Amino acid sequence: MGSILTDRKNQVLTKKLGASTDIDCAKESLAGSVSQRACVFCGSRVVLYPVTDALHLIHGPVGCAAYTWDIRGSLSSDRELHRNSFTTDLREKHIVFGGEQQLYQSMVELIDKLKPEAAFVYSTCIVGLIGDDVEAICKKVEKEKGIPVLPVQSEGFQGSKKDGYKIACDALAKLVGTRNNKEVSKKSINILGDFNLAGELWMLKEYYEKIGVEINATITGDGRVNDICNAHKASLNVVQCSGSMMHLAKTMKEKYDIPFMKVSYFGIEDMSDALYEVANFFKDEEMLRKSTELVKDEISLLLPALEEYRKGLEGKKAAIYVGGAFKAISLVKALRLLGIETVIVGSQTGNKEDYKLLADLCNEGTIILDDSNPNELSDFVNQTGADLFIGGVKERPIAFKIGIGFCDHNHERKEALAGYEGMINFAKEVYASVNSPVWEFTSRKKQK
Ligand code: SF4
Repeated sequence: MGSILTDRKNQVLTKKLGASTDIDCAKESLAGSVSQRACVFCGSRVVLYPVTDALHLIHGPVGCAAYTWDIRGSLSSDRELHRNSFTTDLREKHIVFGGEQQLYQSMVELIDKLKPEAAFVYSTCIVGLIGDDVEAICKKVEKEKGIPVLPVQSEGFQGSKKDGYKIACDALAKLVGTRNNKEVSKKSINILGDFNLAGELWMLKEYYEKIGVEINATITGDGRVNDICNAHKASLNVVQCSGSMMHLAKTMKEKYDIPFMKVSYFGIEDMSDALYEVANFFKDEEMLRKSTELVKDEISLLLPALEEYRKGLEGKKAAIYVGGAFKAISLVKALRLLGIETVIVGSQTGNKEDYKLLADLCNEGTIILDDSNPNELSDFVNQTGADLFIGGVKERPIAFKIGIGFCDHNHERKEALAGYEGMINFAKEVYASVNSPVWEFTSRKKQK
């Protein structure tokens, strides 16, 4: 435990029977700790990115745009405007004389050329420093061009990625309820917080449609501006990745009295619960019967297929470090199904309630971390002898430098890991990575 900075000691917990599971969390990263968290702008960008028919314009230097270019593996069933990373390319002269003119011209040119349904205009650090009035320019262009133009005041230095989620939700909330041009049934839901990575949302939509639920808006995976504007017409908001979308769900509850529920689509248990809970919400016997049938059919195919992978994974140990703690909870359960014990689990943005759930779920001795950094993570992986690391792009080098298997479960991935099909893909990927012969040649193996 030598690498834990003194001021971070209470953000690390080892589960012990009968001991307190209270952990310090939901606070600013300690200066100099080299947190794995991203900036506010990045948080807003990942949430809004999958709105496919909107223009996403980054008001700032080209670096901010390059950093978030095609940041998710979100697929679209229609337009693909989201895959571009437009920037006003602010330079020294704009820092001195201001960048408002540049912003206005860029927006007008892009809207004329691409005909988007709406525009999101992101403020980056430098805009916060020079004080451009982004809101005024957005209002002016909105009036001239007749489409919603939404300022996203996401200056990177304001806080962390989590603050960016909230700012993105506020921008989306401005669209919700602005149109009434869709027929929506009483048994309809909005899917919040699924980003259609590798087409996952389409699988989920199919499950829900099979049990008789209509999907109104998907926010933001494969998202459409018109659907978001009509999102207030759904009967229920089903929220995955609650870290990023809970704020919008709460806003819609306050404003339109739409109830919401938190779900996860990772792993058999949580995926099945996500269907049952929606069926229970609608108090519909037929829907419940169809859910039971669907779950039974999927599981009867899935379990024998998983058995093969389980044989090669039984007794292995895993480290999990992901953005949201709710996903970590599902991963612990999914790994258990494969015979893998979680020895380290942490998140960038978890709250006390999430960590309490994790502590209840994990075995004694599991290390639970909030807002960790590469030094801590490497030390704990070495100390616990984990065979697998599940994380994102910033955790991959940690795993590979140590010489253990890695599974990308972050937003850049191109593999569908949600739903029943996703569980098989997950097992396949974990199995292939953990049992790869390449680890025989790494320094860790040679030391044994
Ligand atoms: S921290 Fe600031 S400069 Fe860096 S990517 Fe975020 S907004 Fe851009």
